[in-house]
Amino acid sequence: DYRKTMRRFADVLKSAWLKTMPRIGNNSLPEILTFARLGLKLRLLGKADMGEFLRIAALPARDLMEENFESDLLKAALSWDGLIGSKMAPRSPNHTVLGMLYRMNEEQGGDHALPNGGIDGLIAALASSAKAAGAEIKTGSRVARILIEADVGGLSANGVELADGEKIMADRIVSAADPKRTFLELVGTPNLEIEFSNRIRRLRCDGYVAKLHLALDGLPEFNGLERPDGRLIIAPDLDAIEFAFDDAKYGESPEHPVMEILIPSIYEASLAPTGKHVLSAHIMYVPYQLKGGWTNKARKALLERVIDTIARYAPGIKKQIIHQELLTPLDIEQTCNVTGGHWHHTEFAIDQMLMMRPTYEAAQYRTPIPGLFLCSAGCHPGGGLMGGPGHNAAHEILK
Ligand SMILES: Cc1cc2nc3c(=O)[nH]c(=O)nc-3n(C[C@H](O)[C@H](O)[C@H](O)COP(=O)(O)OP(=O)(O)OC[C@H]3O[C@@H](n4cnc5c(N)ncnc54)[C@H](O)[C@@H]3O)c2cc1C
Repeated sequence: DYRKTMRRFADVLKSAWLKTMPRIGNNSLPEILTFARLGLKLRLLGKADMGEFLRIAALPARDLMEENFESDLLKAALSWDGLIGSKMAPRSPNHTVLGMLYRMNEEQGGDHALPNGGIDGLIAALASSAKAAGAEIKTGSRVARILIEADVGGLSANGVELADGEKIMADRIVSAADPKRTFLELVGTPNLEIEFSNRIRRLRCDGYVAKLHLALDGLPEFNGLERPDGRLIIAPDLDAIEFAFDDAKYGESPEHPVMEILIPSIYEASLAPTGKHVLSAHIMYVPYQLKGGWTNKARKALLERVIDTIARYAPGIKKQIIHQELLTPLDIEQTCNVTGGHWHHTEFAIDQMLMMRPTYEAAQYRTPIPGLFLCSAGCHPGGGLMGGPGHNAAHEILK
């Protein structure tokens, strides 16, 4: 019943995720219709369900779990999708349930899917489709700045300059870099109104998820599991998640990390040599800004605690490790060029959602600089590998 109800509620929001949100203060009919459609879908739920939807949408995950389940394990596991990637824990008010509904919107209704060939396979498919449509792709070419032209009509974007000095001119520039990086680094504040650049500067972009990669000599055995396939969540109860969050919110590395583990080589044999495996885990909550900084000692201590935690459930795993790597949000910022190493580029929170994402005046993928568009997770509807921001941005660019 819980699953059916949540899917019904997720369906209501579906119409809003793949649509450009109306501009604040804009009275154009198509934009108003976006909200009207959402209101109608809500109304069609019927009186009882509509009331229930409005009641739970802003509920802390913990309250929803306590209302529906008795098992501590189930409560922790089912709240996970509302929390991962955000600075929120089960007791956080306002939008953890919205986060859950967001994840349930994807085609599989919240079930996770791995693309053929892993993420590399997805990237190869997107690249080959773009090339077939005539795109030329340049990788390993850092954009140093977006070129802005000034004339009597005002400013407009007309190209990019790469780090090696090469200039590429174009009528439309579309940035998949996060909003802070796009505006503060690539456009530059001298080209922006002060109120706008202040709003961008205030975006909350500190990531709270670290990534663990292990290369293993064989398939690890987890207590009580015939085969360690599917998503393995280590979070014994809601308090375990909350306490890990408490450490992180005061800038500490979690004493007892909670995590989600996947062994993708079970599904995609090409990811590891025969007989070997790779394990990937999302560790929560690991602060971008650690008190005392992310020194080698701090990194090593966290890695040890994470491996010790996994070894409690998979006792033989330590002997199977051939190589290990832990990326903190700071490492992710540096290696993936994402401000704060944030999962959604900027916090997925009620004040940074819908027509406020990343901020008004840039929430419809167009920006205050004509010719410059945004298309990343920092835009509506948000992050995760769902293609929503790119889909909506493409529609706006083609208008
Ligand atoms: C640790 C972690 C684990 C995650 N795991 C999952 C998961 O399992 N499933 C899931 O669905 N989502 C996951 N996510 C979220 C997901 O990865 C992001 O939401 C998603 O990648 C955002 O896609 P994007 O294209 O908007 O931005 P990005 O994937 O961040 O792409 C932006 C690109 O712009 C490039 N760039 C930035 N600046 C420049 C520049 N100056 N010049 C040239 N290029 C530049 C960056 O290098 C990057 O390649 C995870 C996120 C994190 C941090």
